[in-house]
Amino acid sequence: MRSFYDDKEAFGCKTDLDLRVYTSRLLGRDASLVLHGGGNTSVKSTVTNLLGESEEVLYVKGSGWDLATIEAEGFAPVKMDALLKMAELKELSDTDMVAQQRLAMTNPSAPNPSVEAILHAIIPFKFVDHTHADAVVTITNTYGGEEKTREIYGDRVLVIPYIMPGFVLAKLVYDMTRDVVWEELDGMVLMNHGLFTFSDDGKKSYEKTIELVDAAEKYLEKNGAVLECESATSSVDLLTLAKIRKEVSNLKGVATISIFNESDLAVHFSKQDVEKIAVQGPLTPDHVIRTKRVPALLGDDVSADLARFVKEYKEYFEANEHGETLLNPAPNFAILRGSGTLSFGANAKEANIIKDINEHTFEAILKAQKLGGYKALSAKDIFEVEYWSLEQAKLKNGAKTALLSGKIAIVAGLERADMLKAQGAVVVRCDAVKSEEISAVVERTVKSFGGIDIVVADGEVFTPSSDLDTHTAHQELLKQCAPFLKLGVETPHQLFI
Ligand SMILES: [Zn+2]
Repeated sequence: MRSFYDDKEAFGCKTDLDLRVYTSRLLGRDASLVLHGGGNTSVKSTVTNLLGESEEVLYVKGSGWDLATIEAEGFAPVKMDALLKMAELKELSDTDMVAQQRLAMTNPSAPNPSVEAILHAIIPFKFVDHTHADAVVTITNTYGGEEKTREIYGDRVLVIPYIMPGFVLAKLVYDMTRDVVWEELDGMVLMNHGLFTFSDDGKKSYEKTIELVDAAEKYLEKNGAVLECESATSSVDLLTLAKIRKEVSNLKGVATISIFNESDLAVHFSKQDVEKIAVQGPLTPDHVIRTKRVPALLGDDVSADLARFVKEYKEYFEANEHGETLLNPAPNFAILRGSGTLSFGANAKEANIIKDINEHTFEAILKAQKLGGYKALSAKDIFEVEYWSLEQAKLKNGAKTALLSGKIAIVAGLERADMLKAQGAVVVRCDAVKSEEISAVVERTVKSFGGIDIVVADGEVFTPSSDLDTHTAHQELLKQCAPFLKLGVETPHQLFI
């Protein structure tokens, strides 16, 4: 792991916040440090308000922003004195915390501050960087993870036992650091969660993250926890993929995109003893809102396996709930024993996010297996985060669902492609006429998105209920799509008039 800090680029940063945006993006661009909205950063600064008074504020990453693409307006300015007072409270409910933080913001139109705002405030340095670095969470998610962490870092870092994110985490750190000499620390490792580094210098804070993660990576290597996947060929029946996607769509009650991952890593992982290693739980708690706690394990009887997943999910809910409402119990990803993995999303973007998280998780689990064994948090701990209102709020920030979201269309010719896309459908163009070229498009579509719901040929729209015994110039396309279309999700035809 190396630093991407460029003094020349940093020189162009005129304000504290500019530099904060710059180094946040440096963290965000490395997927082994943070993934899709994970992690958060902050900078403490002084601003002058309209009345000419100067105020200490914490600019902290806003909820829903991604470090890789964050802009200045992605940071919420919260008054430091309010945050520090909140840290002294014995208890603080989530609702009160969110409300008080919003009240303490100097810009009411800024996004909600990260759930870790109070924790950032109590760390007595200008810059604070928080990541869910793969190497660090791999080590902390093993048997004896805490001892290994101490072995790597000695007294350079403070090791914080796992506790749920938010106020209780801030409170624990506040209590644990009363007598700590902060200047002697390079960072904090949060067990089963991630890493914090800090400094009054933006470059140093970023580079401490790089340095500490590098030490963790070297430790993994030295101890033989390296990834070894043979190059794999996977054989999977395309109709089985379409059938799985149809059943998952039925369970979710909406058309769902299903991405088949047949990378060497995914196939290798699917060939392991998945009953043991794949059902432990996520690498860091906030992945759960994307992936759910565990995957569905699919073998020869897909329907029975999905039903088993739903039954077990409901049991997990019942065992841990305290009056929350059951989320949809369908899986968000699945292991197709021996042939790869699947990720399910309401649209391609969501399914891709899950696929990315899966890949990092598979790699971490395989490495952890070589380091004493993967040991994720308990189901109870994961449940608390999955059903935490502040985590669920992160998902609600997304755009409104488009009418054809999750639908997959193959379009011959130009007609209707734009309309389908505008309504949220995935559109695959196919102007091929040769049979083998059409097969290739069909295969790519089913593997990349899960199936086929709509075929447009000569401007005519075909859906699962259509009579396909018709004559168009794209007869071969219709013929090849027919078995998949039968397994597709229906769209009311009035939408196409
Ligand atoms: Zn975190």
